[in-house]
Amino acid sequence: MPDVDIALRALTDDDTFRVIAVRATDTVQAAIAAQKVKGPVAQTFAELVTGAVLIRETMSPDLRLQALLQTADKSARMVADAFPKGETRGLVINKANNVTFALAGGAILQVMRTLNDGSVHQGTVEVPPQGGVSGALMQYLQQSEQVASVIAVRCVFAGDQVLAAGGYIVQLLPGLDPGPLMLMAQRLEDFEDLASMLRRGSGDPKMLLDELLYGMPYTQVGDSPVLYKCQCSELRVTASLATLPRSDIEELMRGGKSLEISCEYCGEDYQVRTEMLRGLLAQN
Ligand SMILES: [Zn+2]
Repeated sequence: MPDVDIALRALTDDDTFRVIAVRATDTVQAAIAAQKVKGPVAQTFAELVTGAVLIRETMSPDLRLQALLQTADKSARMVADAFPKGETRGLVINKANNVTFALAGGAILQVMRTLNDGSVHQGTVEVPPQGGVSGALMQYLQQSEQVASVIAVRCVFAGDQVLAAGGYIVQLLPGLDPGPLMLMAQRLEDFEDLASMLRRGSGDPKMLLDELLYGMPYTQVGDSPVLYKCQCSELRVTASLATLPRSDIEELMRGGKSLEISCEYCGEDYQVRTEMLRGLLAQN
């Protein structure tokens, strides 16, 4: 049983399905700790982060993906960023106002994927009344992807501690008629629920593969690491100030001391030096 986060890829020997199973337990725990969220908000956030990891794993390894959930009244938002090499981070905006993050009643899921040519593909769906984050991801895949897929993500807690986070995506290989996927979807409905499976196997993705593909010979074709890692740096934090009006930057420079800024994703503190701010003004 692996005790590290990892994504496993498998192909059924009859060339019908591609399956990706992921363990994201530690990644999710770190993202939750950095954002200091609890309860239902942490649950939704954990599943969004896991979903972002899973969908990115279906893409070319050097591409990135961002998934964003927003409540219908736009009062709360959460973001999950999945980068190449499995590096993942997340952000919950306006958490103070939200004991619960209302998914029902018109929340939206927006997924932005970079494509091979560098352009960004954006898809937006309304979160369906049932099915939570998994339901929303499913809806997104059905609307935006060429490939017929089934996806599920789940996070199991013990108090505020993440016991296991993980999920799977099953894709019908291109060129096949949708028959087998219908059967698979039916099979997944009869399936022991994902939460109890994650609890039983501590999120072990190999066990997920074995259970999903029970009775179907398959070959594991690859694996890749999944980890919590922010992408911030002094340069990026400084660049984020570039959107401020010139007068505000001048105001920040007054006093000549370096400026302390925390990364909103990971909480890392940066001292932005006056020379960096001066550089920004020179560019504006
Ligand atoms: Zn950061």
